Amino acid sequence: MMSIAENIDQIKATLPEQVQLVAVSKTKPAILLMEAYSHGQRAFGENKVQELAWKYEELPKDIEWHLIGHLQTNKVKYMAHFVHLIQGADSFKLLKAIDAEAKKVNRIIPCLLQFHIAEEETKYGFSMDEAFEMLGSDEFGNLKNIRISGVMGMATYTDNLVQIRKEFAHLKTIFEKLKSEFFTLEPEFKEISMGMSGDYLIAVEEGSTMVRIGSTIFGERNYL
Ligand SMILES: *Cc1c(COP(=O)(O)O)cnc(C)c1O
Repeated sequence: MMSIAENIDQIKATLPEQVQLVAVSKTKPAILLMEAYSHGQRAFGENKVQELAWKYEELPKDIEWHLIGHLQTNKVKYMAHFVHLIQGADSFKLLKAIDAEAKKVNRIIPCLLQFHIAEEETKYGFSMDEAFEMLGSDEFGNLKNIRISGVMGMATYTDNLVQIRKEFAHLKTIFEKLKSEFFTLEPEFKEISMGMSGDYLIAVEEGSTMVRIGSTIFGERNYL
């Protein structure tokens, strides 16, 4: 079996320089995160706020913490003071809650708009229409404590590589449309977060700027 450091090296060797690797450490103990940290990894992704908060307390303070999963509005306050990027901003309601909590701690919190690109019904995210309506509204314009840094999406869990590629290409198209419609003057709107252990090479080919990889780095997860 290869070490965490070797896994990271092997993944990085396949990534273009401008693509950022977020190490998805959900369910994994702090000691394994430290192995990655000691090898230079600084961006980590978690999907549970409680777990994110205790790992933040326990681990070095120069780690960039990404919240990658669905987020409940009442949990935002537990991480508003330290979270680096909220990747799963999937509703207007949530963005308003993030803005309110960010204001309390005097921060501007970067967020990615999560889009529903997969076939599955269960995946969270905006549709193109919903995002256009929100971004064009005065109410959205009044949110001063969030910054939209790009988009995020998950492809369908399938062996059909053609379909996966199509879904990633779709997210890239969404990004370009939003960029030209709402963010032409904002260089911070630049991230396309797509690609996980099973599909990140396709995602990179389709224009990903940020891959979220867990099991290929840390091994399979055991859910109790
Ligand atoms: C768990 C998770 C990942 C990482 O999945 P792996 O298949 O282990 O690489 C990426 N993105 C999100 C949103 C996740 O929940």
